[in-house]
Amino acid sequence: MTIERAALISFHACPMAPLGQGKAGGMNVYVRNLAVALGRQGVHVDVFTREHDEPLDGIETIGPNARVVHLPGGPIDLPLHRMYEQLPCFLEEIEDFRITNRLDYQVVHSHYWLSGWLGHRLAERLGVPHVVTYHTAALIKTQSRTGEDEPEVRRTVEEDLARSASRIIGFSPHERDSLVRLYGAEASRVKLVPCGVDLHRFNPVDRKEAKQRLGLNGEKVVLFVGRLEPLKGVDLLLHSTARMDVRDELKVLVVGGAEEGNNEMRRLQGMARDLSVERTVVFTGRVDQSELPFYYSAADVYVMPSYYESFGLSALEAMACGTPVIAARVGGLSSLVHHGHTGYLKSWRCPESFANSLEMILASRDLRESMGRAARRRAEEMSWERVAAEIEQVYGAATSESH
Ligand code: UDP
Repeated sequence: MTIERAALISFHACPMAPLGQGKAGGMNVYVRNLAVALGRQGVHVDVFTREHDEPLDGIETIGPNARVVHLPGGPIDLPLHRMYEQLPCFLEEIEDFRITNRLDYQVVHSHYWLSGWLGHRLAERLGVPHVVTYHTAALIKTQSRTGEDEPEVRRTVEEDLARSASRIIGFSPHERDSLVRLYGAEASRVKLVPCGVDLHRFNPVDRKEAKQRLGLNGEKVVLFVGRLEPLKGVDLLLHSTARMDVRDELKVLVVGGAEEGNNEMRRLQGMARDLSVERTVVFTGRVDQSELPFYYSAADVYVMPSYYESFGLSALEAMACGTPVIAARVGGLSSLVHHGHTGYLKSWRCPESFANSLEMILASRDLRESMGRAARRRAEEMSWERVAAEIEQVYGAATSESH
């Protein structure tokens, strides 16, 4: 069935938010790119998100047929753990907007559990299918790292969604299996559509040129990019750096985190001093995504030492720039990185093992080049156009079934 109009709900993650600080990261990128790619395919897409900044214009066009609709969703500086309270009012805001503008959506696709709560109710009112992407799920997160704490209500809502959604989009076999095992989702309703990457933006740049642009000289470069929070496991990268022999000719760039720093950045900076690697490790703060191709291309190797990643979009961006990835064998990373071909997967959170793999890639130009080429080839199969085409099929199948 052809889909003409879809409502995407991304209550707290605005697709226009500056990335790499606070909670803004992969999910915001995902929603934006999916909406734009669906729009290019001819599906009219409205992304509903809460107002989060200065009073906003309300509606922003982000591409052909694709727009972001900002609606009031409680006080602008409301912390994430208080957002649940705002959902009933936001649902009415979406309904008012829809009725005033006489819009009929054939499918509702929600992102994260807060939006899932909204999507479930909106789809029910409209009598259309509800597709949900969890992005992260409380039970997977809390099992991945001790100390992760999630409100009970999140788990309850996620369980309801596993039962009620017409389709669930999962990023990896690991996520599908976890949703089935931990939440009782029906395997046949979980559709695997891995994340995409913007292949126009993320392209290899000549490494020498990229290093010069960043003011680097002859040093080897190891890179991490992402929001700075404990789940990202950057402390493992610091411990690995401390065990490497090549430290004098090395720069480890940690990109992400608010300019003024956050608790995690301060903790990591203290750790770098304690491990005597403070001259090797550079915390750059957040970098605009348009500049990131230079960072990924300047890097000899990209490292993602996370406790958990539902996908690991930054690793895919690095691959698209022709850079090998060393990643923890967790979540989506285990199916994204091909061990021994596009980089290395590490099963243990062990600094010696990460340091060994880092040294291997840094020591061999041939290995770096061949892994980098394989990484780029893999990324070329993962465009947003492909993601949008597959997701439109999921919408179509769900819609046909509900008729
Ligand atoms: N990002 C960015 N600037 C930064 C840090 C991150 O633009 O300083 C972007 C990065 O390009 C990627 C996203 O934020 O698209 C992070 O996604 P990832 O899946 O790696 O992590 P998540 O935020 O989902 O945990």
